[in-house]
Amino acid sequence: METLLNLIDGELRPAVSGAWLDVYAPATGKAFGRIPDSDERDVDLAVKAAQQAFPAWNALGREGRSKVMLRLAELIEADMDGFVEDESRDNGKPLSLARRVDIPRAVANLRFFATAIIHFPSEAHLMDDVAVNYTDRQPFGVAGCISPWNLPLYLFTWKIAPALASGNCVVAKPSEVTPLTAYRMSALCQAAGMPPGVLNIVHGLGPKVGAAITSHPGVPAISFTGGTRTGAEIARVAAPMFKKLSLELGGKNPVLVFADCDFEEMLRTTVRSSFTNQGQICLCGSRILVERSIFERFRTAFVDRVKALRVGDPRSPESDLGAVVSEAHMQKVLEHIRIAREEGAQVLCGGNRIMMEGPLKDGWFIAPTVIEGLGPQCRTNQEEIFGPVVTIQPFETETEAIALANATPYGLASVIWTRDVQRSHRVARALQAGIVWVNCWMVRDLRTPFGGVKQSGVGREGGMDALRFFTEAKNVCIKL
Ligand code: NAD
Repeated sequence: METLLNLIDGELRPAVSGAWLDVYAPATGKAFGRIPDSDERDVDLAVKAAQQAFPAWNALGREGRSKVMLRLAELIEADMDGFVEDESRDNGKPLSLARRVDIPRAVANLRFFATAIIHFPSEAHLMDDVAVNYTDRQPFGVAGCISPWNLPLYLFTWKIAPALASGNCVVAKPSEVTPLTAYRMSALCQAAGMPPGVLNIVHGLGPKVGAAITSHPGVPAISFTGGTRTGAEIARVAAPMFKKLSLELGGKNPVLVFADCDFEEMLRTTVRSSFTNQGQICLCGSRILVERSIFERFRTAFVDRVKALRVGDPRSPESDLGAVVSEAHMQKVLEHIRIAREEGAQVLCGGNRIMMEGPLKDGWFIAPTVIEGLGPQCRTNQEEIFGPVVTIQPFETETEAIALANATPYGLASVIWTRDVQRSHRVARALQAGIVWVNCWMVRDLRTPFGGVKQSGVGREGGMDALRFFTEAKNVCIKL
């Protein structure tokens, strides 16, 4: 069993309680390590360490902080194989995906914000001969960052990097389901030259550690990514304390396929946008809406491609999909498939757990699943499943496609497939979503605003939006 520790005030240490929680490998279903079962006492120590470290970290200036973060990025990159292995083992995702996406993106997040801060401008507003205003953006001290299990280090660094670059110190909580790479990174902080207390990582359960960060009076801002219900709970606690909140929540993303699209390109990408990371990406398309005239052709071709996907050992380069993240999550996804059947769905492929052999016999694998025959208002098309499950629905007109796309409480991402430029603008404007991709999926420029509308979240991350979130704007007006 590997023992993971908290990083508090530059020291790796167990929880004050002395208690531990097991960490499981989804592909084998076996525990391989343990994390500290921390509580509000550990969070309090972390907040105090962060408060103490703040003046010196801020005084280091943009360039000084940038250098430390760039060194950390370099150290992660130098240990790429170790990080990739850990991410795959902890999450169940294919090793190839962790190598192609997760860890390079974590490195890119650190580099992006380490350099963005150097170019972060302040605005000035001149009032003819009366006065000049300038905006002074200062860090507020301690930022709370809480992240989920689906893209563990990728989303963890997406939060801590802008917080640190802005001059704040951080108390962060990775998901208890996938703590391994955050721990691996914590072991590199000292070598990167990160002063003690600047980045604190407290492991443990959401309702204990996450709740303690949310309610701590010494943490004036919370950046959270996770489920909508958890986001609502965080808002309930944090709003009366007047904390700044950035909430990146769930989704039920539509993919709109018009008959004039590049069919081959659409098909290839739609298989990816449905099942990458076992469908456990907040940006995955889970409701595929297809123009009636190509519906039959799409269904046959799509189901053929999905049946050809290989589910297997995350370590094998042959595997397109690995295991889903936990036994509880597997049960949740299977329950949704059961509900879909109860609602009258035809399951065109998948729909079941896959039992492997040998060391993977207890692993949590689900066959990629395509569902047809359900209307927009049923639970299957309304609730986030967050697994390898998609529905397909036909539409007749552009107006109907937009209405179907917008017919959920969520509004994170959406995809449009068409070769008609005017339609792409028209539909993009009409979609209730924070992110619209046209003829592509998950093409990411880190400068763009990232976030959702409706129950998919509040606020935007990415680029200057993130740096603005992690600073307070003060207007200084000087009479000329
Ligand atoms: P989750 O909400 O269960 O947990 C997320 C984090 O919050 C974890 O670290 C957890 O320990 C913590 N937490 C749980 N209860 C808490 C509480 N009461 N107070 C404070 N923190 C608490 O989500 P998950 O299951 O880890 O992740 C899956 C969800 O995340 C999906 O809904 C998915 O759509 C969403 N997600 C959204 C985005 C986005 O950018 N919008 C990205 C990735 C994942």
